[in-house]
Amino acid sequence: MLSKTQFPGHYIQGYNATEVLGEQVSQFGSTCFAVCDPFVHENLWQHYDKTLTQKLKVQNETFGGECSDEEVQRLAEKAGAFNSEVVIGIGGGKTLDTAKAVAHALNVPVAIVPTLASTDAPCSALSVIYTPDGQFKRYLVLPRNPEIVLVDTKVISEAPPEFLAAGMGDALATWFEAQSCQQAGSPNMSGMKGSVSAFTLAELCYELLLEHGYEALCACRAGAVTPAFEHIVEANTLLSGLGFESGGLGAAHAIHNGLTMLEQAHDKSHGQKVAFGVLASLIMTDRPAGLIEEVYAFCESIDLPTTFAEIDLEGVDHEQLMTVAQRACAEGETIHNEPMPVDEQRVVNALIAADALGRARKERH
Ligand SMILES: [Zn+2]
Repeated sequence: MLSKTQFPGHYIQGYNATEVLGEQVSQFGSTCFAVCDPFVHENLWQHYDKTLTQKLKVQNETFGGECSDEEVQRLAEKAGAFNSEVVIGIGGGKTLDTAKAVAHALNVPVAIVPTLASTDAPCSALSVIYTPDGQFKRYLVLPRNPEIVLVDTKVISEAPPEFLAAGMGDALATWFEAQSCQQAGSPNMSGMKGSVSAFTLAELCYELLLEHGYEALCACRAGAVTPAFEHIVEANTLLSGLGFESGGLGAAHAIHNGLTMLEQAHDKSHGQKVAFGVLASLIMTDRPAGLIEEVYAFCESIDLPTTFAEIDLEGVDHEQLMTVAQRACAEGETIHNEPMPVDEQRVVNALIAADALGRARKERH
């Protein structure tokens, strides 16, 4: 099997990086259509407008809230009418995924400007498409990665710290899922084999989380941008993105997709659900007790969920867990990349056991 490794074109990160956005984007065109989170639109737009209008003609539009086929079509029509030569996405994961899909529909370059370090969405050639009411629908695989990913760590540090923690939850899955694909010889997101570069970057992602995660979150809570904070933003955004896309996904993201089926958990972020998926997947795949201990302790230290209650699923019943497991084990899901056969019953048991262990640890402390 061939291996394939994918990268974003230019990855730019640092304090006040926004100042160079217009100059960077103008390398790819002279008109741009910006898709912004409502929060960005109301509170931050003047900063982006200033840097972009120095070099480009700009139209901006507020993101409707869900990365659905309907929303992509709505925005693509507007961007097309504006003759946009570049699309820019500014905001959180779903806004960015939507901008990528809009750029793809118009066949123009895309610049991705995350305002949160909460998911591994920015760097990948992938959009996760949901139904208009927020259930996972499908992965849209794009022919190319974003031309630009620009991360202003001043902006990231001004967002609520829970987003940084959620990003670490998403990044926490990266090494375990890539490692599963490596061991099983399962394909990465391109359908080809992962490369040693991708697996090494995925492992580095986990090492950075353990070494700097807690310190970075403390700095973020105090509104301080430190080297540790920069390392975690890079782990959450660049390494997690490269690691999942070119290393491959496994059970944790499949379980996340299953959890999106339960209405009660809709307010919990992608990273929080993925983190719980990691815990269940480690138990399901019989990882060493010391490793499971290390991962629970890490999650507890940065307030990532380790119990059903913490993902708004207190009192969840067997039937609902079976719904989660059926979605997680659907044909084509990445859970089948694990190095052992997985079925619905094993997923249900792993979910129950992950919650029980999380509760027992809390009672003991
Ligand atoms: Zn993810």
